[in-house]
Amino acid sequence: MKAIFDERQLKHTPQRYFRRGAYIPHPEQAERAILIRDMLLANGFPIEAPQDYGDAPIKAVHDAGYVDFWKDAYERWVAEAGDAEPIPTYHPGRRAGRRSDSIYGQLGWYATDTSVPLTAGTWEAIYWSAQTAIEAAARVMAGERMVYGLSRPPGHHALHDAANGFCAFNNAAVAAQKLREKFAKVAVLDIDTHTGNGTLDIFYERGDVFLCSLHVDPAVYPTYYLGYADECGAGEGEGATLNLTLQPGCTEESILERFREGLAAITEFGAEALVVSLGFDMANDDPLSEVKMTGAGFEIMAREIVRMGLPTALIQEGGYLGPSLAKNAEIYLTASRDELAKTEPVEV
Ligand SMILES: [Zn+2]
Repeated sequence: MKAIFDERQLKHTPQRYFRRGAYIPHPEQAERAILIRDMLLANGFPIEAPQDYGDAPIKAVHDAGYVDFWKDAYERWVAEAGDAEPIPTYHPGRRAGRRSDSIYGQLGWYATDTSVPLTAGTWEAIYWSAQTAIEAAARVMAGERMVYGLSRPPGHHALHDAANGFCAFNNAAVAAQKLREKFAKVAVLDIDTHTGNGTLDIFYERGDVFLCSLHVDPAVYPTYYLGYADECGAGEGEGATLNLTLQPGCTEESILERFREGLAAITEFGAEALVVSLGFDMANDDPLSEVKMTGAGFEIMAREIVRMGLPTALIQEGGYLGPSLAKNAEIYLTASRDELAKTEPVEV
């Protein structure tokens, strides 16, 4: 099983995150990707760089003005505000109003929270994170059974036209849209501990992309506003969204029980290809976790996903700098490779 990664993804360097009334060191650090990259190398996974597919595949799921905004936002900020920290401050209300030409106005217009500060390398990092996901999808379309895209920064909170929850471009959604060029029905299975609210936003009225998101109940846990069990899609997407919510403190057994409900629903939908939004922040020692997942649980998920038999792009989402991040990624990916070896000829 191949892995895709580009070193330019390390260039987004957020420093601080305002959480529950206090600044904390920003959890979404480049070191996350470095730890996983080094684990891949140590375990003999071939790592390849993505091609440049341009911004069209990103604009296929995101507002074009939103994508273009990121290209020179940092330079515009510096020209206007100097070395002040570029954190979104002015956000539109429920009656959205209109987009201002000001960098201050646009920074808030294109973000629902303060979690994606602009840094000098943000554009490059988010662009190559998306290209990594596109490359993983392209390899799957070319016939590889499973490919791992080490996307960083993560993507599943990014809405159609707004950053949210450390995410700017929705890498998994971009990959799913790419897969639609070959496969009529694509499913996204999101096992990050947070709701895939951005993926939900993008595909909510689409019947060709099924989203199953397994996450801690948004009534009591970020992202708070989307991902409730009664949100099932709308219009042509009616029934193509499935939110499986977990209670804080829940056990691995109950997580796996809900996970299997998700697999059954994806099979029922008739998915021809799969994107996994692969977060490791359900881990019991992840700094953001409120549930009790262990490496053994991640191994079970990995094997059962392979046994679904679908062409699959694994796209990295969350999982933060706790003691077991690299270990859980290693357990998940080596178990996937092992399970794949039982079902297909050995790769040459
Ligand atoms: Zn997460």
